[in-house]
Amino acid sequence: MAAVSAAFPPVLSLKGAGPALAAKLQRLGVMDVRDLVLLAPLRYEDRSKILPIASASQGKCLIEGEVVLTDITGRSRPMLVCRLCDSSGSLDLRFFHFNAGMRNRLMPGTRWRCFGEVKVSSFGKEMIHPQMEPADASLPGIVPIYPAVAGVTQKVLRRLIGQALTLFESHPQWLPCVSPVSEQAAMTTLQALKFLHQPPAEAEVVLLNSGSHPVQQRLAWEELLAHHLSLQSLQDFRQTGQGPKMEAPSFLIDTFLSSLPFPLTDAQRRVFAEIQADLGSGRPMGRLVQGDVGCGKTVVAALAALVSHGSGYQTVLMAPTELLAEQHFQTWRQWLSPLEIEVHLLTSKMSGKDRRQVLAAMKDSSKAVFIGTHALFQREVHFARLGLVIVDEQHRFGVDQRLTLKAKGEQVIPHYLVMTATPIPRTLAMLRYGDMAVSVIDQLPPGRQPVETRVMSQKRREELIARLQTWIKQGRQAYWVCTLIEESEALDCEAAEDTASALQSSLPGVRIGLVHGRMKPVEKEQVMTAFKQGEIDLLVATTVIEVGVDVPNAGLMVIDNAERLGLAQLHQLRGRVGRGPGQSYCILLYKPPLTDIARQRLDFVRQCNDGFALAEKDLELRGPGEVLGTRQSGALQFKMADPVRDQNLLLKVQKDAKALREHEGASIPTLLKFWLGDGNQYADV
Ligand code: ADP
Ligand code: MG
Repeated sequence: MAAVSAAFPPVLSLKGAGPALAAKLQRLGVMDVRDLVLLAPLRYEDRSKILPIASASQGKCLIEGEVVLTDITGRSRPMLVCRLCDSSGSLDLRFFHFNAGMRNRLMPGTRWRCFGEVKVSSFGKEMIHPQMEPADASLPGIVPIYPAVAGVTQKVLRRLIGQALTLFESHPQWLPCVSPVSEQAAMTTLQALKFLHQPPAEAEVVLLNSGSHPVQQRLAWEELLAHHLSLQSLQDFRQTGQGPKMEAPSFLIDTFLSSLPFPLTDAQRRVFAEIQADLGSGRPMGRLVQGDVGCGKTVVAALAALVSHGSGYQTVLMAPTELLAEQHFQTWRQWLSPLEIEVHLLTSKMSGKDRRQVLAAMKDSSKAVFIGTHALFQREVHFARLGLVIVDEQHRFGVDQRLTLKAKGEQVIPHYLVMTATPIPRTLAMLRYGDMAVSVIDQLPPGRQPVETRVMSQKRREELIARLQTWIKQGRQAYWVCTLIEESEALDCEAAEDTASALQSSLPGVRIGLVHGRMKPVEKEQVMTAFKQGEIDLLVATTVIEVGVDVPNAGLMVIDNAERLGLAQLHQLRGRVGRGPGQSYCILLYKPPLTDIARQRLDFVRQCNDGFALAEKDLELRGPGEVLGTRQSGALQFKMADPVRDQNLLLKVQKDAKALREHEGASIPTLLKFWLGDGNQYADV
């Protein structure tokens, strides 16, 4: 794709923006003028009409009047009270934080315009800490409210965005011009952005606040269009690029399969055949393997690695956590060492010689398999002959890693295989994996009994603990999962520690282990190994065990505060049990009282064992970040579009993208650059 002009001017280039302000804006992800104009308002406040005080009752509104009385009341906690009158009535303004200057300005006889929440108490109407301006100022109109960042006022943001818009106005070549493929484009991008940031007084605030205003839809459409086109360029690249041409080593594969204690399921066979066809095609593979927890994705990935090895290429397996990387390493070493395939583990705790050895192997051992966390492979590592990249549970990753290992200066582009246990609803899959082929392992190994799920109140904790005791006496193991407290990892770990010691005093003699995210990898590994080997009966854990951990004898899981988690996440956790023979149980403990919605959600998990259905429900209830596990990290977050709200745009976007490619291909680079900025990794390959 043709190179597009240089970067957009930085925030610093604007009037009144110094380094300190620029640094603060960076926290909002705002670096340049493009980021500024694409900063979508969170909501709008209607300050286009002044209400008579008599008719201002509930909610935020704008009033105007004359101060008739100003006083400081309250001894222990002084408060500035100021009575404002208009021809219809009066209202008290209350300030808990004030200074002498304020008191002087609010002298009786002065006229003010106030915007705030009107409350009606037994003393009459009042506004607490309203926003004030002199009554002669011009009416603000409909005011966009942006995400808050410490030290940057809304006013400053609005001013900077205004400047940025003016700059774009005088540089129309920076803006996409995707006309006239569709009626969405009836308005230019600039017109739409101006409306968004500076809506006219007659704009419909309710529509704007719901995100469904035609102007917002216009921008969402364009953003989705850009996103779709970028995925397509990646797909084109795969269809024309050169990938390692691999041939399956049938002897190795047969030996491996016969060494397994089980035959593959039909679904595993089918998906491996699909992968094998890709690997042999000479084009770089991009394939997503979806399959519910426990369906056996790992063995399929190992088969792909065998093909890579047999064809003289290296394979990398990336796991989302160190714990999982270590677990994969153990399994894969056990599987592959008898076939004399080198398997290396790279972890963050490795240093000095060990680390150098692995790095040397990457450079020299042309057929080895490397396992580690995604973070480790992101560093500059040089591979002698990388042929296959496997990403386990990709949805846990914050950033899209699709291309990082690809562009390391090799002639051929490695094959790329993603495995995910989160069944991804169709719309999300289209947005996130639109460039990849999809395989589904839709069958569990035989003999698996569905996990029996129960929803239980904390009030029955004692009863539950007694049952846990019986369970453990029978030689079985169990998990006790402590979920996130107030979004704080530190508190979360503390909660797990507290739970572990409380359980220990209720269950003397039971061997209790603890793993949480704050522990050192070595410590975690020791505990996990002990649990796997049956030296620990009850494992108290935070959600770090969510993905992939495999201990068949552990057939009981308690999830504390289950109402806090997403449905897909609960399902993932539950997937840790039910891996061995016999009935397994999952107890969803909740803290009463439970809201209706929370109860419905837990009931849904109890009744439903279908990961897809749960993910769809999650998407509906909690949004895409939740389903893809990217809520904190911000991946797949659009600036204007909302994958759930704007689903109706997706089909249209596909059609428009096609037309655009056919008739107006030249306009695509500017479109991608404007919407995807430097994050537009796709277009550069
Ligand atoms: P996931 O798809 O969740 O990653 P794993 O690959 O960890 O699942 O497999 C779960 C368990 O099932 C493992 O213990 C694995 O050895 C076992 N397994 C995989 N395939 C089969 C099969 N065809 N028959 C029986 N057990 C299998
Ligand atoms: Mg797995």
